[in-house]
Amino acid sequence: MRSIPVEAVVLKVMDYREADVIATLFTREQGKLRGIAPNARKSHKRFSGALDIFARLTLSIRVREGLSRLEEAAVISLSSHIREDMTKVAFASYACELTDALLPDGLPNPRYYRLLCALLERLDTAPPSPADRRFFEINALNILGYRPEMGRCTVCDGPFDGVTPLSFHPSAHALTCRNCAGAGIAITPSIPPLLRACLATGRFGSVSFSDDELADTGTILDNLVASHAGKEMKSLRFLREVG
Ligand SMILES: [Zn+2]
Repeated sequence: MRSIPVEAVVLKVMDYREADVIATLFTREQGKLRGIAPNARKSHKRFSGALDIFARLTLSIRVREGLSRLEEAAVISLSSHIREDMTKVAFASYACELTDALLPDGLPNPRYYRLLCALLERLDTAPPSPADRRFFEINALNILGYRPEMGRCTVCDGPFDGVTPLSFHPSAHALTCRNCAGAGIAITPSIPPLLRACLATGRFGSVSFSDDELADTGTILDNLVASHAGKEMKSLRFLREVG
């Protein structure tokens, strides 16, 4: 099988044997894959320290089922400023772990790839922000087809008016109107339009959240992310500790 050029973000790296590296990559062209880079820790000519978490690279790879073979890599960005700040490291680790949990192997998703690259660029150049985390999560869920219903009550189908408080139901992962609230958690009515605004623009930093809106958005997105990721993510505990 001949090698092909790809662009990728490094989601996870693990030293293997004496000098090899096994990396989980999210590639623009081939989707998520795992690959082994033989002798990568000794070959500066072929890898030049490029196989590091959060790095964006161009690579030559031989795609194989299971474990692909990484032949050489060149750095586009190492996201160096992320590594200087523990909160940024925690946030970027969470984004990479979430990507690994949500994306299937071998299925390209250029929109998701652009979102992840935009997040890493943002973290590399701006202070870490809870609003950026929520912006990333709702866009990630939307791209993957997991967007929650944000215009109508999921019980009575009545439209949300943007004024009357809403209710979120963790076990149903859904928003309802106040009449159908039952034992749900009260949610600020501005949340659906705010989340829709996050989807309408691709730019981090273009939507601002009040403290109440951040708390309510967190209630909804933490629940949805956990239900779709299907596991407790290690990086999330780290993010809570530093954030
Ligand atoms: Zn209702």
